[in-house]
Amino acid sequence: LTGQTALITGATRGIGFGLAVGLAQAGAKIILNGRNSDRLAEAADRLRLQGVSAQTLCFDVRNQQAVEKAINNFESADGPIDILLNNAGIQHRQSLEDFAVDKFQDVMATNATALFYLGQAVMIHMKQRRHGKIINIASIMTKMARHHVGAYVTAKAAVGGLTRAMAAEWAAYGINCNAIGPGYISTELTQPLFEDRTFSDWLIDQTPAGRWGQIDDLVGAAIYLSSSASDFMHGQILYIDGGMTVTV
Ligand code: NDP
Repeated sequence: LTGQTALITGATRGIGFGLAVGLAQAGAKIILNGRNSDRLAEAADRLRLQGVSAQTLCFDVRNQQAVEKAINNFESADGPIDILLNNAGIQHRQSLEDFAVDKFQDVMATNATALFYLGQAVMIHMKQRRHGKIINIASIMTKMARHHVGAYVTAKAAVGGLTRAMAAEWAAYGINCNAIGPGYISTELTQPLFEDRTFSDWLIDQTPAGRWGQIDDLVGAAIYLSSSASDFMHGQILYIDGGMTVTV
């Protein structure tokens, strides 16, 4: 990925941070995004300790105007964004029956609508260069469901549709739009589940690979989808889930 610049949303910790390290090790220049400037600066410091010097763009992915401004300013001042990794996401756990409307809308705004804002803002520039890679972080919930995560299930299903819609319109511009669908990966987002012994035992039993996923399990797919090796791949979702979604 030498010579390529990757913008990773929600990169202050977890999967976003880990994929930033992975793409950097494959040669990419990194732009970290987060909505809190202190946490973002700390993440850039942690990356520096790993020998990676990253730029930062602080904005809330739910704010369309902030997204557009940050990307346009970067493109004119610093140069092209070749790879967009649409990773920022949140969870809210509540029964669908009682799900708070504002929480439902927030999960949809962060986990689905924001990917459209980011995609639209970068594609304008990628289209002119006839080259670009957009990688959306989906989930096994893109094709499955589970109790108490109804908004997340709805939003991640939308990510599958959006990925196909982006591919349908933007492949003609030389832009590859694909998604990664991780299974259960141990991060801050899944900490309550990781710490729940009953859930964790159930998960390990349900997963042919017999373990939780780790962030490093996703790095190879992110590099592949960022590189010319995936130039003829459009609108696909790569599930990386230890085999969970192919078994009953
Ligand atoms: P974490 O909670 O560990 O990290 C989420 C990141 O998103 C943080 O950096 C957070 O930054 C950022 N973020 C949240 N809201 C916003 C916002 N409005 N604007 C900008 N940044 C934001 O989550 P994970 O690393 O586990 O998850 C990352 C992605 O992977 C999500 O899309 C998630 O749905 C997906 N995923 C995760 C799985 C898992 O098992 N962990 C499985 C399948 C998919 P900050 O709060 O500092 O602003």
